[in-house]
Amino acid sequence: MKAVVVNQASTGVEVVEHELPRVGHGEALVKVEYCGVCHTDLHVAHGDFGQVPGRILGHEGIGIVTELGEGVTSLKVGDRVSIAWFFEGCGHCEYCTTGRETLCRSVKNAGYSVDGGMSEYAVVTADYAVKVPEGLDPAQASSITCAGVTTYKAIKEAGAAPGQWIAIYGAGGLGNLAVQYAKKVFNAHVVAVDINADKLELAKEVGADLTVNGREVDDVAAYIQEKTGGCHGVVVTAVSKVAFNQAIDSVRAGGTVVAVGLPSEYMELSIVKTVLDGIRVVGSLVGTRKDLEEAFEFGAQGLVVPVVETVPVETAPDVFQEMEEGKIQGRKVLDFTR
Ligand SMILES: [Zn+2]
Ligand SMILES: [Zn+2]
Repeated sequence: MKAVVVNQASTGVEVVEHELPRVGHGEALVKVEYCGVCHTDLHVAHGDFGQVPGRILGHEGIGIVTELGEGVTSLKVGDRVSIAWFFEGCGHCEYCTTGRETLCRSVKNAGYSVDGGMSEYAVVTADYAVKVPEGLDPAQASSITCAGVTTYKAIKEAGAAPGQWIAIYGAGGLGNLAVQYAKKVFNAHVVAVDINADKLELAKEVGADLTVNGREVDDVAAYIQEKTGGCHGVVVTAVSKVAFNQAIDSVRAGGTVVAVGLPSEYMELSIVKTVLDGIRVVGSLVGTRKDLEEAFEFGAQGLVVPVVETVPVETAPDVFQEMEEGKIQGRKVLDFTR
């Protein structure tokens, strides 16, 4: 079968002929339909989290179950399921048993510590594969498997409630979905912040009530404070320390700042403001199986529509190259159906 793997030098990816995976106890074989290409895949391909030459990449996989291993009761042949970054937890640690399974210290991650979804067939741990509901386009579902659930969970963490102000810093692939979830699912008022006018235009189209271009407004946080009275929550998907610092200054007293983007920097945090204003700053990592189930459901209802472009599997090395050069708008999804 065709598979996209980390090359031997751990400097990028290559498309190879790979042997079919074997299905073990508690596992299911999935005929992959689509798998999105994510910035995290680029980190894995470059060995940024440790080198994994030969690893099949991909954690935004969607496909149909074609075979069940022994002992599987949660899936049946024909089910459409996800292959997500949160591939499997241990099931019995303090995180797994308290609804925080993505923090499991023995977690397995698809396309990094185990083979992922960028291949014609993939094996999943049946109890951890989340079913894709009827009515949700599988290519769009691939985007919800990572970007969608990540932003949905982050807005939950921000404590968003109807009528409250939520700011989304970074209006790219993640940010666009964040705007949609905040507006259409949580009924919040949404501010989108970016330095790219096209992305802000797109944010407005999908529901942002207010957009702020960091290149045009001198003091972004002061402007947001003036227009909204301070946000109740902020989700930062931007990969810039500046955005994190502005985010802290954009919330009202009692507000929450949720960190999602991963710049390799430190943010500045005024201790006085944090204490006196009771600011909460929290990190949020993808989402649990239940979060993904919910994120899928809102996609199936048409409330949230990811922008995706399907491309042939053979173009994977080019897609990774474009991603490295920052040229991709929206999400490129490898199409295994053609
Ligand atoms: Zn991803
Ligand atoms: Zn665990």
